[in-house]
Amino acid sequence: MAQHLTLPPYDWPVMQPGWVWLCGAGSGDPGLLTLHALNALRQADVVIYDALVQEAILDWAPQAEHIYAGKRGGKPSAKQRDISLHLVDLARAGKRVLRLKGGDPFVFGRGGEEAQTLVQHGVMVRIIPGISAGIGGLAYAGIPVTHRDVNQSVTFVTGHDQSGNTPGSLDWESISKGSQVIVIYMGMKHIAQIAAHLMKAGRNPSEPVAVVTTATTPEQQVLETTLGAIVDDIARAGLEPPAIICVGQSVLMRQVLDWQGMAAGEAPRNLDPLGRGLPAESA
Ligand code: SAH
Repeated sequence: MAQHLTLPPYDWPVMQPGWVWLCGAGSGDPGLLTLHALNALRQADVVIYDALVQEAILDWAPQAEHIYAGKRGGKPSAKQRDISLHLVDLARAGKRVLRLKGGDPFVFGRGGEEAQTLVQHGVMVRIIPGISAGIGGLAYAGIPVTHRDVNQSVTFVTGHDQSGNTPGSLDWESISKGSQVIVIYMGMKHIAQIAAHLMKAGRNPSEPVAVVTTATTPEQQVLETTLGAIVDDIARAGLEPPAIICVGQSVLMRQVLDWQGMAAGEAPRNLDPLGRGLPAESA
């Protein structure tokens, strides 16, 4: 039975027939939906969702038709162009269309392409950002994506390009030199090449790395390893995508910030993993 939350009073946007709302669903945990996403779920006639969207979220749109547009059971994913044109057709049929994508629709989510096709066909769109796995997923693992003692910048990279290869267009040398923390999406398939590129470009094999799979869901797993050991350790742990891979010293912060472990009764492993000193006791 779907449980309905009532939205607090606010001037919530009304979904008009013929519009498509392109919306991030957050990185897994339904609690990471935005209120705009919830407002959309309550109004949509049709929800078209991707593989990374937790099905529990669809229960919040019981009035809507649910259409799956992702990869499942090893079948090839629906073609991007077909999905975009399907959205156009639904909008033209006067539906209130909610296009729900994992994380944030504009972060490695092809949301820009879908929105562009919609606009090119004269369809009105609204964009609802979401919590991306590279930020929210790491936070659930107790890893701050920026931390003042570690990094003043962060680089999000994809481990795949359109051809499914490691992105040939990426300048690993520059990324390696210029990015204190590197967050890799879709990196599992090519992790061996990616790690090799980074080490060849000067990153230390002992550099800490975290791999967070199915982040923010009850199945979340976190592997702490190093650049030099990552390939063997992933295999040993039997980890599968989807995974976010974080390379950099901020991974050490998990030793003090693994809040899920602490909630389950574990003690923090190291209160000062970066060696910056503990705060003095206040008098
Ligand atoms: N738009 C999404 C990213 C889509 S690309 C976002 O903003 O999060 C798909 C990749 O995202 C996956 O291969 C994985 O690297 C990452 N990802 C998405 N959800 C994830 C999750 N719950 N746990 C770990 N990685 C996730």
